[in-house]
Amino acid sequence: MRVTEQVRRKKERKVRVLKETVSVCPKCVEEGKLNVIPARIIESDGKILYEKECEEHGKFQDIYWSDAELYKRAESSGGRERVPLLQRLKKRIMEITDALKTVWVL
Ligand SMILES: [Zn+2]
Repeated sequence: MRVTEQVRRKKERKVRVLKETVSVCPKCVEEGKLNVIPARIIESDGKILYEKECEEHGKFQDIYWSDAELYKRAESSGGRERVPLLQRLKKRIMEITDALKTVWVL
């Protein structure tokens, strides 16, 4: 019991939520549904991950930046801040466009 608790705490400490956002579920898109789901940018094991969760299909995780330090440097320096933001927006637009295509074709 105590060991399980320790393991769980260790796991929680490693993961840090950096940003909350929204996205669409890729599985729902495959089924022709445009389901907007909560998504977040998290830091885990020195990497930045993009995580989203659909009530029906569960969790999806993507590597957003493979180097957490690089991400933080980019985020904190004013000039480079636009790069991850643009990447994120591009990804969102692509997902939404794909979702809309699917919905309209069906
Ligand atoms: Zn889904």
